[in-house]
Amino acid sequence: DKVVFLTIDDGAHKDPKLLEMLRELDIPVSAFLSDYVARDDYDYFRAARDDGWGIHNHTVNHRELPALSAAGQKKEICTQQDTLEEEMGERPTLFRPPYGAYDRDTLRAAASCGVEVVPLWAEEAFPDRIEWGREDEKLHPGDIILTHFRGEKEWKGTMPDMIRRVVNTATAQGFAIARLEDYL
Ligand SMILES: [Zn+2]
Repeated sequence: DKVVFLTIDDGAHKDPKLLEMLRELDIPVSAFLSDYVARDDYDYFRAARDDGWGIHNHTVNHRELPALSAAGQKKEICTQQDTLEEEMGERPTLFRPPYGAYDRDTLRAAASCGVEVVPLWAEEAFPDRIEWGREDEKLHPGDIILTHFRGEKEWKGTMPDMIRRVVNTATAQGFAIARLEDYL
């Protein structure tokens, strides 16, 4: 299928306009939350969940996991599984390691507490550009696009600006944005 997936990481910048825009355009997204930045307003992510977003695991403290012991990795991943189940009413099935860094202990720990899939990404989206994963600078069927919960302090633009860039890029290349969970 000519579909790509949009995933949003961390959870620091909670822009109400992002919720509005995705609701209006009916664009599915999956969020990967780190507790240390998400915890001050899980209400925002409950509203997102009610809009149909997938809410998944991105650890408690966003550490580089392979630098931790197996027990330390398990704590980072599985404690966030418990927290998200408590806050969202459902245990996540997807986990994305911070910085895309993982080893065998990471995968073993994630599997032990209910994670089924560890999706990485192909492109990264910003308000002013796409960072391409391949030399052809094109989307490919099934690509996962990464972006972050950020605002104008960190970016040259807003989250709605970033969404516009992703939608325009996908449309120009003949792709629809689909729900990642439906294709796994
Ligand atoms: Zn992250």
